[in-house]
Amino acid sequence: MAHVLSSRSLELAQTLVRMNTVSANSNLELIHFVRDHLAGLGVRSRLTYNADKTKANLFATLGAGRASGVILSGHTDTVPWDGQDWSVDPLSAMVQDWPQDAPGGNGEVERAEPRLYGRGTADMKSFIAIALANAERFLESSSPFAVHFAFSYDEEVGCFGVRELIADMKERGVKPVACIVGEPTYMVPAIAHKGVYRYRCCVRGKEAHSSLTPHSVNAIEMAARLVGKVRDMAEGFESNELRYSGFDVPFSTASVGQFHGGIADNVVPRDAEFRYEFRNLPTADAAQMQKEVLAYAARAEPAMKKIAPDAGFSFETICEVPSFLGSANDPITRLAQRLSDEPRTTLVAFGTEAGIFKVAGIPTVVCGPGSILQAHQPDEFVTLEQLARCELFLQRLASTTVIG
Ligand SMILES: [Zn+2]
Repeated sequence: MAHVLSSRSLELAQTLVRMNTVSANSNLELIHFVRDHLAGLGVRSRLTYNADKTKANLFATLGAGRASGVILSGHTDTVPWDGQDWSVDPLSAMVQDWPQDAPGGNGEVERAEPRLYGRGTADMKSFIAIALANAERFLESSSPFAVHFAFSYDEEVGCFGVRELIADMKERGVKPVACIVGEPTYMVPAIAHKGVYRYRCCVRGKEAHSSLTPHSVNAIEMAARLVGKVRDMAEGFESNELRYSGFDVPFSTASVGQFHGGIADNVVPRDAEFRYEFRNLPTADAAQMQKEVLAYAARAEPAMKKIAPDAGFSFETICEVPSFLGSANDPITRLAQRLSDEPRTTLVAFGTEAGIFKVAGIPTVVCGPGSILQAHQPDEFVTLEQLARCELFLQRLASTTVIG
């Protein structure tokens, strides 16, 4: 018989979803809740903060004294819902059957599927909640390995928090043997994703009446040349890059997402700004891509400076989330397959913290409940069936004696 989700896991998932932890806000309410819950079980948490102490990561070891084991990694922040058309309150965390009017047995509509609705239900508070709800099992297990909870802040805006958490872990000599990132993969172990490298370019020109263009530097036009360069690179990836099958888009992509500039039709603009990103295959070098843009800008600058010495380009990194490449043969991948009764592995299109754990030398797999199709969407949900599968996965992990 299929595992049924415990009411404790469901209630904890609802509690976490009802806390507003949009990345722009503090996540301390949630972190303190988890800390206090663990403290009640005699487990001490280690918190690492952002610069102004409004956000924190939480790291806890369940089974202290045992050998370091598997990290369960989740981010506590969510994307916002401004402007999205929700039919339920994003913080309601209500369970509803879908379809709502399923009669249960007229043959046309399948049996109703219960779903948990709300921001963060799929991405990814439910995973954190189920891990927490089963904390006692990890503590009482006869496994020779400890389990580590690693719950981060600011994942959605560039995976910033987890870097602090990993640095702190290293500093203290904690060496987990593997990591499971519980992002929504429908409980199919994912062994690769692309990187996400995002930058802002500000262009300073020299303004003038638009009848006097030779005495000016047109910031928009110079920005547009760089935008064209990014576009050329994207086309280059598409025509030249070795295909990596399994990804929806099996080559690296580049894209300009925002462009601002200009104040009037008859003024040569002094300022322009645009933001762009690369999503590199795990086999492609994102640093090289950005170097190409910088080199192009450096070649364009002398002509600008001839007219105005302070004209030129400046760049700012918005985020650099490395790609992730695990392996179907990694013991942690095989373990995840065993725990989820899932012979397949998959690749995912979205960035996660997995690449950062991998770069830190920790073999990693991405496996969590729900679908990325619902993440960041209005009426985000996760089915209770997926949550039950996740719970079974974690309960099996608690009694695992061998990683592999
Ligand atoms: Zn996520």
